[in-house]
Amino acid sequence: MNVTEGHVIRRRPRLVIASKNIGKIRELKALLDEFDIDICSIRDYENAPDVIEDGRTFFENALKKARIISEFTGETVLADDSGLEVEDLDGMPGVYSSRFAGPDASDRDNIEKLLDVMKGVPEDKRGAAFRCVLVLCKRDGTHTSFDGTLKGRIGFEPAGSGGFGYDPVFIVPASGCTAAQLAPEEKNRISHRSMALQKLKKALHQEMNSIRG
Ligand code: IMP
Repeated sequence: MNVTEGHVIRRRPRLVIASKNIGKIRELKALLDEFDIDICSIRDYENAPDVIEDGRTFFENALKKARIISEFTGETVLADDSGLEVEDLDGMPGVYSSRFAGPDASDRDNIEKLLDVMKGVPEDKRGAAFRCVLVLCKRDGTHTSFDGTLKGRIGFEPAGSGGFGYDPVFIVPASGCTAAQLAPEEKNRISHRSMALQKLKKALHQEMNSIRG
């Protein structure tokens, strides 16, 4: 929306979310509600490029998405990447989390593969972490990143029906149950994504002036 101030048309600052995932867009919009900015996503742009996530780290993937979409839209862009890192697997599946069991793998396929490759690994060696990296790329091409981590361990069998991805096998030590057994509000409160978002929000309050176009 444009705001007219005398003869000058001042555009409200805009933030584009570099995701087509409706759930993620909704969550981010709600969490950034307190800011006086127009928030939209690449779903609002025709012919937005599909960015191939071929980075070696969550940061590389998020930065690539943020940069390409910022160049395409000419706007400030927020991109994220996240996944599961398992200590015994040297950080795998990491950036391959969504396609651990193959390019079209379902959450269930990925969980089955994870439990399979971890067969025989004792409880004290099943440490893992969910990680999330958010990158904010401004119109001038500069960027800032924010990360969040949720530590836990991989269970021996799935439990719980909430959440998504690896939640049914990710045991949150503080609660003793899996992330899929937590109430959504509780998971959102402690999650890697929410931790990264809290950091972003803090910085965004300071960044508002430089975002204004
Ligand atoms: P993306 O960041 O949406 O690309 O997610 C990458 C993949 O990481 C997802 O498909 C899940 O397999 C996994 N993942 C990321 N965050 C979570 C989470 O909070 N719970 C369970 N799995 C997750």
